[in-house]
Amino acid sequence: MTQSPKPAAPVSPADRLDLAIDGMTCASCVLRVEKALASVPGVKAASVNLATSRARLTLNDTANAKIESAAIEAVRRAGYEAHCVKQDGSEQPKIDENRAQEAAKLQRSLIAALLLTAPVFILEMGAHLVPGMHHWIATSIGTQRSWLLQAALSTAVLAGPGRVFFAKGIPALWRRAPEMNSLVALGAGSAWIYSMVATFAPAWLPPGTRNVYFEAASVIVTLILFGRMLEARAKGRTGAAISQLLKLQPRDARLLRDGQAVDVAIETVLPGDILIIRPGERVPVDGVITEGEAYVDESMISGEPIPVTKRRGDPVVGGTLNTTTGFTVKATHTGGDTALARIVRMVQDAQGAKLPIQALVDRVTAVFVPVVLAISALTFAVWLWLGPSPSLAYALVNAVAVMIIACPCAMGLATPTSIMVGTGRAAELGVLFRQGDSLQRLRGIQTIAFDKTGTLTLGKPVLTDLLVLDDAYDRSSLLSWAAAMQMQSEHPIARAILDAAMQEGLALAAAREFVSVNGAGVSAIVQGRAVLCGNLRLMQSRNIAITHEDSRVGAWADEGKTPLYLAVDGRLAAIMAVSDPIKPSAVSAIRVLHQLGLQTVMITGDNARTARTVASQLGIDDVRAGVLPEGKVEALQGLRATGKSLAFVGDGINDAPALAAADVGIAIGTGTDVAIESASVVLMSDDLHGVANAIGISRATMRNIRENLFWAFAYNAALVPLAAGAFYPPFGLLLSPMFAAGAMAFSSVFVVLNALRIKRYQPEAAAG
Ligand code: ADP
Ligand code: MG
Repeated sequence: MTQSPKPAAPVSPADRLDLAIDGMTCASCVLRVEKALASVPGVKAASVNLATSRARLTLNDTANAKIESAAIEAVRRAGYEAHCVKQDGSEQPKIDENRAQEAAKLQRSLIAALLLTAPVFILEMGAHLVPGMHHWIATSIGTQRSWLLQAALSTAVLAGPGRVFFAKGIPALWRRAPEMNSLVALGAGSAWIYSMVATFAPAWLPPGTRNVYFEAASVIVTLILFGRMLEARAKGRTGAAISQLLKLQPRDARLLRDGQAVDVAIETVLPGDILIIRPGERVPVDGVITEGEAYVDESMISGEPIPVTKRRGDPVVGGTLNTTTGFTVKATHTGGDTALARIVRMVQDAQGAKLPIQALVDRVTAVFVPVVLAISALTFAVWLWLGPSPSLAYALVNAVAVMIIACPCAMGLATPTSIMVGTGRAAELGVLFRQGDSLQRLRGIQTIAFDKTGTLTLGKPVLTDLLVLDDAYDRSSLLSWAAAMQMQSEHPIARAILDAAMQEGLALAAAREFVSVNGAGVSAIVQGRAVLCGNLRLMQSRNIAITHEDSRVGAWADEGKTPLYLAVDGRLAAIMAVSDPIKPSAVSAIRVLHQLGLQTVMITGDNARTARTVASQLGIDDVRAGVLPEGKVEALQGLRATGKSLAFVGDGINDAPALAAADVGIAIGTGTDVAIESASVVLMSDDLHGVANAIGISRATMRNIRENLFWAFAYNAALVPLAAGAFYPPFGLLLSPMFAAGAMAFSSVFVVLNALRIKRYQPEAAAG
């Protein structure tokens, strides 16, 4: 049996440390920072994400200040900056602001570079392109003076807006760890040095090679700055989902202190505080209503657009909207403990995750820059040796073109940007990927198994029938006995029987010696009688004779009702039926899943006949009925034995083992209950369409990643040989360093823009 790797147990925050890293530009930076962090004593593993600029450390022990400062120091020695971040989302506004500042700074650099580069470009390229201009320059200001002007301007470009490339790239070269900035610095730098020599010490150059490439040096810097600015702007948009979630949380709260209302900052609210929520305001933290009644719009957590009625004692969630009347709330969870903070953390975790596919990319990029430098050196040597005259000029230009075209930033951005946008869009649709790698695993899922009660059905059964079989008892007393013992059971069926007794206004006696038999029913002593309530299995195990009720019971089962038996003092006294209506969304959700090509299975403890009826109402392909709660894992393994990978959808309360055992566990959250540990995907609303959306998003994201990777690799595979001049002998084709810079800037912008397309992902809908 092929068993896919189980998702790693969620790391508890105590042995985890998150750092924000500044200054990373490409995939090789990521590897370098990871290596530096992994070598810090006490760090078990380090994972760095380029799109979020975050590093996540898994520690051998709990986090402490020593490891923290050692890690920051290690990052600094590798040539980057690091600082600690909190994982409650409170940093997000600052991150957004930093991003915006970075984009603005890049824009200023770009404008400066553009202004300085334009005259250089016109003087040099104009002379080549416009007939007569060359002559005009030579006669008006003179060629030498034109070169001097270009020298001044391009020096300003390299020393001003272009300084970042040298400041980062050259030290990286000394550390023998060249990265993308090194390539730009070397490329633009060599064009500039050569031109300076040609201008000021022409005697050093062989005859016929006295050319200047100031325009190439300047344009490379300008175009790459342009690419980075576009990238920074687009990246800002990839994090929008989290910012939107955070906007739901009010900045301050109105506290009731000694009978006085005071406005305080949200950070100062503590559990136990009493808060006043006015109509039209958002609830600031999680709490319980102490006074008043309200309609609360919980659409942000449940996706349900209709406001829910909340009364005294009901829980309310921070971030939800109070629509009509004011009420007071006692805070239960504040700060990083609120449901909203947990949701934000989950999305951030997923956004920063590394997919298994990334391992391949990492292996390639690790050797990429050194290989490019080698190819560039080889290009230089071959052109110098075999190239046409002036061979030194050709050798230089082509070597520079190779260095510029091969910057691996598109490769570094390919997966993380898609993951970021994909998980962000998923969060908007109420799908939380608790483990980022479930994004990749979900795409390969072939079968979806559902728990029945509470997942496919509303989980709120009602008692529909009660048939007294023994004339010695009357209906009311039987129902009251059943209800008396069900009072102690947690099962939804118990609720149904209890509700029925309440509705009929029956008085309930006390039940003693209550026993709950998992997956079968309950027994107890009520008013001195041994009462037993449950399914056929329970009756058989207690040797209760079931004689001629089969047709009645069978008819109920065929209607999709769950039949129950009630025995008193060892003899069958009544049969009952409860009905748990299927969720309104379930039929169309199952249809959508079939449209997506998935097989569906229902797993339930209910009897086979009832289960089959419910399954056929829903259009579910296959049923596993009569499964004991502890048998669900086994049932899943049985389904997986066919070699198909499997997702399990459950309500997360009693389904934890099954959720953990499936390839992907999808938990249906009930509002606040988002921290369902055993699931790898959590749906915030109980609408089953979320399952299809999770799969749809996963497919869209993985497709996007493959497009990005294909693009990033194909682009290099195609253009490096062109830049090296491989197509010169047959076709006379060469790539100017300026075009190389343009193409390279475009390739990373393409990758980010392509990833942003996932934002337009629309929920899966039933056809027709
Ligand atoms: P499921 O989650 O699919 O409903 P369970 O294992 O919880 O499966 O329950 C299986 C069956 O056991 C129920 O269909 C019912 O017949 C019986 N049962 C469980 N708990 C009770 C109870 N408290 N009262 C009566 N019957 C019960
Ligand atoms: Mg259940």
